[in-house]
Amino acid sequence: MTEITIEQVEKAIDVASDTVIRNEIYFSDLDGLAGDGDFGTSLATGFKVIKADLPTLDKSAIGAMLLKISMLCSKHVGGSSGPIWGTGFMKAGMASKDKTSVSLEELAAMVNAAVEGIMARGGAKLGDKTLLDALIPIAEKMKELAPAGDAAAVLKAVTEVADKAIDETRNLVAHRGRASQVGERSANTPDPGIVGVATILYDWCKHYGVDYTPTAAELNR
Ligand SMILES: [Mg+2]
Repeated sequence: MTEITIEQVEKAIDVASDTVIRNEIYFSDLDGLAGDGDFGTSLATGFKVIKADLPTLDKSAIGAMLLKISMLCSKHVGGSSGPIWGTGFMKAGMASKDKTSVSLEELAAMVNAAVEGIMARGGAKLGDKTLLDALIPIAEKMKELAPAGDAAAVLKAVTEVADKAIDETRNLVAHRGRASQVGERSANTPDPGIVGVATILYDWCKHYGVDYTPTAAELNR
C-alpha cells in the first residue's frame, strides 16, 4: 500500500508554491481577459509566505501543517481566492488530523473534503466555470483510482482531468466569481483557477518524473 508521508506532503506544497510564484504574471494576465487581473498576484502573495514559513510550520501531523497553511491562505492570499484556498486546506487538514502519513484512499478523502468545503464556501457548482470544474472530477478520479495504490497513475490521471477541464470550460460563460460580472466576455477565455490547478498538477508530474503530454495551450507554453 502506498503511504504518503508528511515530508512528502510538505515537499509537494513547496513545489506547488514555486509553480504559483513563477506564474504570478501569467495567471494575472489570464484573469485580466475576463476578470480583474488579480488572481496571479493574489495567489503568489500568499504562497510566497507559505513557502517561506513551510520549514518552521507545525509538523506534528499532516492535519496540523495543513491547518497552518489554511490560516496563511486566509491571511495572505488576496481577493476571493483567500477564503477558497484557505477552506480547501482547512478541510483537507481536518480530514487528516493527527496522521503523519496517509494512504492514497485517505488522500482522496482529504481532497474530497476540500472540494466539498470549497463548494459550500463559494456556492459554485459544476459548470459554473470555476476551479471546481477541475476539482470535482479530480476528486472523483482519485476516489476511483486510489484503491489500486499507484500514486504515479493517480497523478497522471488527475492531471489529464484538469488539462481537459481547461478546454471543456473555455467556451462556458462564468456564473460565479468576478468573471461572471462581465458575462459573455468570459466566453472563449480559460478560467484562471482551472489553469492554476492544472499547472500545479503538471509541474508535480515533471517533479516526480510522471510522463504526461498536455493538450491545452495554457500547459504548452
Ligand atoms: Mg480576479
